[in-house]
Amino acid sequence: MICDLKPRKNGQSCNVYALRASIGTADSNKLENGVVRVFRGEKFLVERRIFGVYEKFNSNSGWSAGNGLLPDFFSHWSYVHSGRKLLLCDLQGHKGRPGGPKYGSEEYYYLFTDTAVLSEGQCYGCTDLGPEGMKDWFAHHVCNDMCKKANIEGIRAAPLRYPPALPQLCRGVADIIWPRKPQPRKPRPCRRRSVYSCE
Ligand SMILES: [Zn+2]
Repeated sequence: MICDLKPRKNGQSCNVYALRASIGTADSNKLENGVVRVFRGEKFLVERRIFGVYEKFNSNSGWSAGNGLLPDFFSHWSYVHSGRKLLLCDLQGHKGRPGGPKYGSEEYYYLFTDTAVLSEGQCYGCTDLGPEGMKDWFAHHVCNDMCKKANIEGIRAAPLRYPPALPQLCRGVADIIWPRKPQPRKPRPCRRRSVYSCE
C-alpha cells in the first residue's frame, strides 16, 4: 500500500508499520508483584513496547473510532489487495503526530499491533470471524476519501443475507436493520375433528 499510494500528511510521508512479535522461552520464573506470571520453560510472545498514546482505530466487526482515514482505508485495501481472501482489521497502536515519539525520523506514521485477520478459510485464530465477519465489517464500513481516491469503493464483501447472532437486548435493533422475512403461514394442525376442522 505504501509503495502504491504513498500516503502523506502535511507534506510528509505517513507510513504504516506493524510490530513484529517473537516467541521466547522463559529461562526462569518471571514475577510481578511477587506473583509468578510466566513459569520457567513456558513459551511467551513478546513484542517491542509502543511509546506514545495508544489508540484503537477500528474493530473486527466494522466499528470505527473515526480518528483517522488511513486505518479504515487500510482494512478495506487489504481486502482488495488480497483478492477478497483476507481483511486486516481490529487496528490499534499509535498514530504519530508532531510533538509525539518519532518512528526513526518520521513524525507522521501508524504503528499497529495485535491486528485481527479475517480470512476466507477462518484460519487465523479466535478473532478471525471468516467470510461472515468480512460481510459484517463492510456492512458497517463507510468508504472515506482515501477509499474513493484509490477507487475501491465498489469492491466490498456482499451484504449479509441474515443477521449475525446478537444478544437478546439487541434483537429489537436487529429487526430494524435486518427485518425478518415474513414466513408463510402454515395451517394449524387439527387436534380433533369438528365442524371447525381444517381438514
Ligand atoms: Zn472503504
